[in-house]
Amino acid sequence: MDASLKIYCKMLLQEDQWRNDVVIDLAADGIIAKIEEGSPQAADTCISGIVVPGMPNAHSHCFQRLIAGLTGPRGSHNDSFWSWREVMYRTANLVSPEQFGAVAQWVFVEMLKAGFTSCAEFHYLHHQPNGVVYANPAEMSERLIGAATQSGIAMTLLPVLYCSAGFGKESVAHEQQRFAHSPSQYLRLLESCKKIISDKSLIELGIAPHSLRAVPANSLHEVLQSWPDKQCPVHLHIAEQPAEIEDCRHHLGVRPVEWLLDQFSVDQRWCLVHATHMSDSELQLAAASRATVGLCPTTEADLGDGVFRTADWLKAGGCFAIGTDSNVRISVAEELRLLEYNERLRSGQRNVLTGTGTSCGRFLYQHAARTGAAVLGQPAGRLAPGCRADLLELDADHELLNGREPDVALDSWIFAGDKSMLKSVWVAGQRVVNQGHHVADTSLRSAFAQVLSELKSG
Ligand SMILES: [Zn+2]
Repeated sequence: MDASLKIYCKMLLQEDQWRNDVVIDLAADGIIAKIEEGSPQAADTCISGIVVPGMPNAHSHCFQRLIAGLTGPRGSHNDSFWSWREVMYRTANLVSPEQFGAVAQWVFVEMLKAGFTSCAEFHYLHHQPNGVVYANPAEMSERLIGAATQSGIAMTLLPVLYCSAGFGKESVAHEQQRFAHSPSQYLRLLESCKKIISDKSLIELGIAPHSLRAVPANSLHEVLQSWPDKQCPVHLHIAEQPAEIEDCRHHLGVRPVEWLLDQFSVDQRWCLVHATHMSDSELQLAAASRATVGLCPTTEADLGDGVFRTADWLKAGGCFAIGTDSNVRISVAEELRLLEYNERLRSGQRNVLTGTGTSCGRFLYQHAARTGAAVLGQPAGRLAPGCRADLLELDADHELLNGREPDVALDSWIFAGDKSMLKSVWVAGQRVVNQGHHVADTSLRSAFAQVLSELKSG
């Protein structure tokens, strides 16, 4: 991109203050060189609305968007996470590489339109449905990298390590053959992905053991010790379901978070996805480890996972990021709203997750943006020199935002709004969504619809 690009912003949230009439000066790769007072005349392009940093999506499985809305009919037994998973596995085993790429492209566009400017894609559909490795073992990872690049979103690719069907099992189940790797195969996949992304400034790479039930301790030790990048993000599902806690206690003798913290040097590069069911002592120890919890309130509600104790977690000094997980909904505002609403329903109070005198929406937004970027390993989540210019423009002319103070406008978006309040979305200083539309909106939407129709008729 043009290294001299300057963007004028009428109102911008820089670190902890709102600033009027500033010009963002961009260096190569869309990194902010400086932000100074300035006029529209001093800039190449102007943003007239209210500018905040783009939101990182800390947890997604793009392909699961294919079953959004299809898991409503009640089954003959009690529906649960586990019955939902059967439906998800059936779809997971139907998707071709071409279909997978088309779905990911459209879902990334939906994320951008919702205000997510980067995404941690927790990717486990590696092989053919019968478990046979594609001629190019990184085929499906490459589809994701291509989709992210085409859509313009920044991505942290998290190839998933999946070794066994459950605690104490030696191999995966029949319907999980697409996911399976030995540690050495997995390390080769990471190596291939690293090469593929070497010239892509918006793509980062991390390690993702699926869960403790799917990755035995020795395999996880082997991967963490062998992979040379000791700073890369490490994400895993943990403590999502009560049945998983009981299985873990049965096989490992302790609860999962307690076991993980005891076995590994968990620190700020770890994202504990869900971590819904922690004991009091696990919660305190996990917060002290500086790990982030990756909370996905809509999916956790949809699957009946349980409610994370966000207020207790923050009180213990913990940090959270937000994710769309199953992508049953794709909305920054809804995830943050539900996080706060869960605490309101529990406590009978309002504005629970923020401090006295502080805007609830502003606190939730800035915390999730900063923490999310850190745990994705992306230079984003804040607007300051050295960070990438991932920006959202709230429409200052929207009837609920017009004339309001910027903190109130942020509250209005999160608690009373939706993506219609977003006027434009920028990644690395490039506008990727304008007036609610992505440049490839129509073609990618129809490609996604085509996949849905093929899977229905197939
Ligand atoms: Zn997940």
